Amino acid sequence: MIRAHPDRLHLVGLSAHQNVELLAAQCAEFGPTAVAIADHAGARALRDRFAGQIHVGTEGLTALACRDDVDVVLAAIVGSAGLPAVLAAIRAGKQLALANKECLVVAGEILMREAAARGVVILPVDSEHSAVFQAMKSGRRDEVRRVILTASGGPFRNWSAEQMSRATVADALNHPTWSMGKKISIDSATMFNKALEIIEAVWLFDLPPERVEVVIHPESVVHSMVEFVDGSVIAQLSPPDMRTPIQYSLCYPDRIPGSAPKLDINRAFGLTFAPPDPQRFPALRLAYEVARQRGTMGAVLNAANEEAVAGFTTGKIAFGQIASLVETIMQRHRVQPNPSLDDLMEADRWARTQVGELIC
Ligand code: MG
Repeated sequence: MIRAHPDRLHLVGLSAHQNVELLAAQCAEFGPTAVAIADHAGARALRDRFAGQIHVGTEGLTALACRDDVDVVLAAIVGSAGLPAVLAAIRAGKQLALANKECLVVAGEILMREAAARGVVILPVDSEHSAVFQAMKSGRRDEVRRVILTASGGPFRNWSAEQMSRATVADALNHPTWSMGKKISIDSATMFNKALEIIEAVWLFDLPPERVEVVIHPESVVHSMVEFVDGSVIAQLSPPDMRTPIQYSLCYPDRIPGSAPKLDINRAFGLTFAPPDPQRFPALRLAYEVARQRGTMGAVLNAANEEAVAGFTTGKIAFGQIASLVETIMQRHRVQPNPSLDDLMEADRWARTQVGELIC
């Protein structure tokens, strides 16, 4: 995108967790002013290959996001680890392109309040929410009847509950339409990804939970829909390629020529839709529970899920135990309304400890 539009997009900063090689290669190509990396070992390894400023750790990431010469922050860290920098970017008044859905699940109340207070528009990068954001432009907010999030159904869409209970990590990572990182691929297999997206939609679009619905759409071409009160349903379609929603969020409110493949309507293709199976995918039910209870419950669901996924990928628990573990932790939690950021971090720690005790 930056390669194609150097007149429009200029890269000020980049961050990486531990992949020094890729970060160094990207610095050589795009010449950012500063970078952030997770630890001092990474910073030392990068030092001879990058002459600019190197920030380290969570504080470093926050400093990078809040630089005066930054207009737009693209937040794409996985999990609640990205939250401090996202909050700081909003408080600094930066336009926020948000791919880190866990931030809204954990701290939606705080993020939306802070964004509203500063006039910051949060632009969703998540393909479903980008689609909803675009479709919302067809009517007024009080004309929206419901939002329909599409879900590919993941690798286990047609598996029986019995087969799913014995699924391996390799099975769960084998996503049919999207190529993604490990955490989000497992989340897609359990449908916790869609669960997180239900909660994300409730916060982003200020909707009661019952107005956010999910439909299985295996082709991943319709990225989501908005139904208005007159019965019209407005959808956004494009081939499954994250470059499209990323570009929309970076260039908003403009649209510029995209580099992702375009929909080919000269070739016959079908689009199918089916309701999800709540029995095989209990994560969806848990999401509505979180959206109703609010407070610290989002932090608990998210942290318990992150730990359960780690437990599954390291062979400590079976695939079928991920959702039941999260549900157990949620049942044990006494939800605290109107939490501060510290309360949310404490709920996050509590849930992780609880999962640790159950699976060790
Ligand atoms: Mg998504």
